[in-house]
Amino acid sequence: MGDLTTIGFDADDTLWQNEQFFRMTEERFVALLGEHGEAAEISGRLLEAEKRNLGFYGFGIKGFVLSMVETAIEITRGQVPAAVIGEILAAGREMAAHPVETLPHVRDTLEALSGDYRLVLITKGDLFDQERKLAQSGLGDFFHAVEIVSDKKATTYERIFARHGDGAGRAMMVGNSLKSDILPALEAGSWAVHVPHELTWVLEHAEEPVGHGRYRTIPHLGPLRGLVTQLAR
Ligand SMILES: [Mg+2]
Repeated sequence: MGDLTTIGFDADDTLWQNEQFFRMTEERFVALLGEHGEAAEISGRLLEAEKRNLGFYGFGIKGFVLSMVETAIEITRGQVPAAVIGEILAAGREMAAHPVETLPHVRDTLEALSGDYRLVLITKGDLFDQERKLAQSGLGDFFHAVEIVSDKKATTYERIFARHGDGAGRAMMVGNSLKSDILPALEAGSWAVHVPHELTWVLEHAEEPVGHGRYRTIPHLGPLRGLVTQLAR
């Protein structure tokens, strides 16, 4: 581990809150359509629309808003009032304008690690929204590079850690999503540190790679610096 040179960080729900704004907006959406169906049914239909639309719009707020519009049309059998569509669009704009809330220990950890390691921000989602959040967070200077990608696969980590570091084998990925941050990074040959967030989108769930030699989990970013030091021994 002495040869670890590069640490990748996920952004949403690893450095700052994200999923909670999606949940709050979904609750608002469900309430808007309350007279047309049960909450569980509306949420289920919305999730189906999101899954279908990932291949068209990718991850992020814009795709979520379009999926809400599509679901509203479906649930009301084409009768959704324009005023409701207007409310959905407004809810999406509010998400995109919401102040960034960084998670505990983020700034101290990045500051401490940035002296000894090359830090790379690796996130998916809307380009414009991610750039906004990074700028507002004030964390940009700790990163050697920022990669906003359409999806996170093993090849994504191989490419990024080759470009900005010394290859995936000498890199570590830190994030809240087992599916996007942990499993593909391990597959690429990197270390992977899972920092679970109480709210994680159902499409980001995956089996925990218990027992994998390069997998670790910590409850929040606080212990990361100590973990890196300990692994380096
Ligand atoms: Mg995340």
